[in-house]
Amino acid sequence: MNDNKNGSISGHSIETILTHAGRKPEEQFGFVNTPVYRGSTVLFKTLDDIEAQQQRYLYGRAGNPTTDGVEAIVTQLEGAYRTRLVPSGLAAITIALLSCVKAGDDILVSDSAYEPGRVFSDGFLARMGVATRYYDPRIGAGLAELMRPNTRAVLAESPGSLTFEVQDIPALAKAAHAGGARLVVDNSWASPLYHQPLALGADLVVHAGTKMFVGHSDAFAGTISTTEEAWAEVERTRAHLGVFTAGDEAFLVARGLRTLAIRMKEHQDRALEIARWLEGQEEVGQVLHPALPSHPDHALWERDFTGSGSLFSVLLAPAPRASVAAFVDGLGLFTMGYSWGGYESLCIPVKLGKNRTARPWTADGNLFRLHIGLEGVDDLKADLKAAIERYARTR
Ligand SMILES: *Cc1c(COP(=O)(O)O)cnc(C)c1O
Repeated sequence: MNDNKNGSISGHSIETILTHAGRKPEEQFGFVNTPVYRGSTVLFKTLDDIEAQQQRYLYGRAGNPTTDGVEAIVTQLEGAYRTRLVPSGLAAITIALLSCVKAGDDILVSDSAYEPGRVFSDGFLARMGVATRYYDPRIGAGLAELMRPNTRAVLAESPGSLTFEVQDIPALAKAAHAGGARLVVDNSWASPLYHQPLALGADLVVHAGTKMFVGHSDAFAGTISTTEEAWAEVERTRAHLGVFTAGDEAFLVARGLRTLAIRMKEHQDRALEIARWLEGQEEVGQVLHPALPSHPDHALWERDFTGSGSLFSVLLAPAPRASVAAFVDGLGLFTMGYSWGGYESLCIPVKLGKNRTARPWTADGNLFRLHIGLEGVDDLKADLKAAIERYARTR
């Protein structure tokens, strides 16, 4: 089934890629999975060998068979030239951005982007002489008006993982490229199963592998997949920074990816069922889920996505803090915590304040972000129904 030495297979469905790509049992004594490689030193036999530097592996910091396997899978899923596994989703964002810029440059970041990416841009990049401006996630072709001669990167996250605006990736790519900038897209929400930004014109795609790829809330990872043109600088930047992902973590990512297709489908179906149900509940002002016809970007989502993720937000009627506490403190199945993508459902109250500058968040009420896990849907509905009742009683 494997076509070549990289464990790549061609002409197959995504489910088949997920089950067969990135592993070479014949190199592992027949064992199905590539085991955890732990290694720094790689040995050379002769002076010729060490001078020629032609071995597959020279030093463990540049990767090993466990990390290579993950990269091969994600490369095929994203239709990329190559992929790098990095230690976290945030590292994927920071390395992707650093690969595009030098002192004196300017970048444009979506107002809905993952907040620690903003902190990196406003802090670290500013210190290195790179300016950041924020754009309305619904700007589309209007991005062209914001481009400056020194704008070198545009960072989009579609949909934004708190407020779920869908971005017009082809329009952003066109505007970015016309101005000589690269488009970086955070594709964590949809996963490459339901959205493939490189095919729509993006140059780099990043994932918080921690979320859907790992799928069990037990490991950190990120990936950067690129076009051929963008690859060399990403790999150079990663190597210069000394960033390496251990085989232990890579093994957990590969293990998660094997079941990504069926997990995504289950998460999608449950999230949609609950989102639709919430639309009819008392206290609910708005459900921010792009696959709902009521969502302002639904048409764009239909055009560019083939499915939806586990994550969405719900806006409840204005109420004091005590109501928010009554909602979350009494939850029985949903638990409260950062991150998402695991088998267990999560709920966090969302505070949008300083982190919105280009398009201030003005909706009235309290926003909650839900990650719908793999519990029974009726049990999750009952948990939310009771929470809404507590919320209503205290407001
Ligand atoms: C969580 C998240 C990240 C960061 O991933 P970490 O692995 O936690 O660093 C980046 N982007 C999005 C959309 C996320 O949800």
